[in-house]
Amino acid sequence: MDKLQPVRGTRDLIGEDFARFQHVVSAARRIAALYGFEEWATPIFEDTRVFARSLGETSDVVSKEMYTFADRGGDSITLRPENTAGVCRALVSNGLAQAGLPRKVFYAGPMFRYERPQKGRYRQFHQIGCEILGAAEPLADAEVIAAGWHILTELGIAEGTVLEINTLGDMPSRDAHRAALVAHLSEHRDRLSADSQVRLDKNPLRILDSKDEGDRVLLADAPSIHDHLTEAAQAHYDAVRRQLDSFGVPYRVNPRIVRGLDYYSHTAFEFVTDRLGAQGTVMAGGRYDGLVEEMGGPPTPSVGWAAGVERLSMLLDAAPAAPRPVAVVPVGEGAEAAALDALQALRRAGIAAEIAYKGNVKRRMERANRVNARAAVLIGEDEVARGVAQLKDLDGGGQREVPLAELAVALA
Ligand code: ATP
Ligand code: MG
Repeated sequence: MDKLQPVRGTRDLIGEDFARFQHVVSAARRIAALYGFEEWATPIFEDTRVFARSLGETSDVVSKEMYTFADRGGDSITLRPENTAGVCRALVSNGLAQAGLPRKVFYAGPMFRYERPQKGRYRQFHQIGCEILGAAEPLADAEVIAAGWHILTELGIAEGTVLEINTLGDMPSRDAHRAALVAHLSEHRDRLSADSQVRLDKNPLRILDSKDEGDRVLLADAPSIHDHLTEAAQAHYDAVRRQLDSFGVPYRVNPRIVRGLDYYSHTAFEFVTDRLGAQGTVMAGGRYDGLVEEMGGPPTPSVGWAAGVERLSMLLDAAPAAPRPVAVVPVGEGAEAAALDALQALRRAGIAAEIAYKGNVKRRMERANRVNARAAVLIGEDEVARGVAQLKDLDGGGQREVPLAELAVALA
């Protein structure tokens, strides 16, 4: 048989790759807990309607990127391309949308999008995310952003990233903006990309997110949402920025941010870096006041973000080193039982410890070096008789005799 390879756009996480990945996720989990986020895990596949309804049929994700298939029972299933819709669906399915809000949810897990794979862009990738469900106040926007900023700071990558923020306005602002945009773009209809000509009829605001260069030229002097904000939308936006200042989170206003999914309104933001080439957005989100209703729940204004774990991992200087183990080395067969006993005593005390499955002392010491052991515990029959072990420092090279009962303390 041909040698099997991982499917295009998927990766194995091994060694240093896994260490970086794990460091990002565990730091995020720890910081999110400081802000009162509880972790949820929702299924990686859902009824296709969960996404088709919420993300918008003209969004790139729904129109081109979803892994959708009929399962053996004929139901249409989609591998989740993101987790916000799933969290909102779970809030409603579990009867949590009626009381006890706001609820703060953290998640981490794999997502799936049929995209052209390249550096920082995969078909199976991973996201961490924070959502605040059931809070209309601008302070929720500011706090969820502050949590994201804190995570980037904890990972040591805040310095090289910039928070860009914008408002998409509320419904009346968007209606007014949409009308002005359609009037403007209709004059240049034939110069728009084919995709955007379709969007002009179906969902004109989506054109603002177009990556087509010709579209971008036409958009340069298109009407801005900022000329159409209602008083309430302006007040929300002003409050978020004021509170970000109070939280000590630096940001830059970028009126071009629109976000790729349909469910956003009011605040939209992205943390961007120039260190990842074209894949420069590491964390992105905004306010989505209508999504829980789309899932059949009551009006539940919400705000959140998602970040790409692979992109964050690439920005890390280095993953923290794994704890170095202690190698337990029986000297002669008669010492095996005592060696295994010492091995388990160390592990029970929380000290990483290893034993080779075979070999003479020389081989076992070679193995100890290969696993980067910091110390070796040598136990021979003479040591067993006296209840001691020889403790050898594998960095300094010194050796001393330690009672077996005191090994864990000596190695702590
Ligand atoms: P992009 O503009 O890079 O396609 P997006 O707007 O589609 O991003 P979101 O849906 O907002 O991305 O997802 C949030 C984050 O998830 C992104 O900022 C990015 O870090 C990460 N992400 C999205 N798609 C991928 C992918 N295919 N591979 C790796 N990471 C991804
Ligand atoms: Mg995308």
